[in-house]
Amino acid sequence: MTWKRTATFLCADSSPENGDVVLMGVPFDGTSCFRPGSRFGPHSIRIWSDVLESFSPELDMDLEEIRLGDLGDLEVPVAGWDEVALRIRESMAPLLAEGKIPVVLGGEHLISLAAVGACLDRYPNLCVLHVDAHLDLRDEYESDRHTHATVMRRVMDLLGSDRVFQWGVRSGTREEWKMARSVGTIIDTPSEIRDRLGGRPLYLSLDLDVLDPSILPETGAPEPGGLFFRELLNFLHALRGLPIVGADVVEYSPAGPGMGGPSGAVAAKVVREVILLCEAGRT
Ligand code: MN
Ligand code: MN
Repeated sequence: MTWKRTATFLCADSSPENGDVVLMGVPFDGTSCFRPGSRFGPHSIRIWSDVLESFSPELDMDLEEIRLGDLGDLEVPVAGWDEVALRIRESMAPLLAEGKIPVVLGGEHLISLAAVGACLDRYPNLCVLHVDAHLDLRDEYESDRHTHATVMRRVMDLLGSDRVFQWGVRSGTREEWKMARSVGTIIDTPSEIRDRLGGRPLYLSLDLDVLDPSILPETGAPEPGGLFFRELLNFLHALRGLPIVGADVVEYSPAGPGMGGPSGAVAAKVVREVILLCEAGRT
């Protein structure tokens, strides 16, 4: 597997073997239809991480006190999902086999499908928490079954609908809403997740467009009516202690190939909290 490294996230160790939680960028946006550019997300997140403290006051945890690795960005083709999926799975499998927790930086949301697949191989009773503005439950989008708009439908194909929980959703087709309501994936509170999870391992898939576009305008498909930053943070903090075995933060699409605008600080802070949540749930 070839990795490209441009920067590391805050105080992360660039030798991933030194990490219990390991970051890996997947700069793929091959199916983005409205505003591509999330391929530049992992790089921008690392650059913007420099503005943050390593300490989270709410979690009372410090990145400097945990073992955090950063593999850099996985080299992936610009199109051709099958090959991208293979590379994601092959790079995650050895991390998971060693009990490490991979945190994938997108990239677009489709990459979650391969990441969930890799975690499912290691944890057969895996459940998925999907945080997003969009349901992503279409069966096909533009005649394609593998896109950012179909990703949770494919995840359901893997896990069954009773192991997928959705929070923050506010957009979808009539058919998607009908499906989500009939299978009961939408949850309202963190305690409901806790109850339904019942101690099983959890994969957290976080599409940053769950935030309102006024908070994070630089994303692939901005959806008005979203969360304030504090609402997302409070939700995440309420997940503390859940056994998160893998996570992704996707769909940050910086305004250009460099730093982008300050959405990068928003994305980087979410990543910091997700890393610490993963650490907090480690057994
Ligand atoms: Mn979305
Ligand atoms: Mn999504």
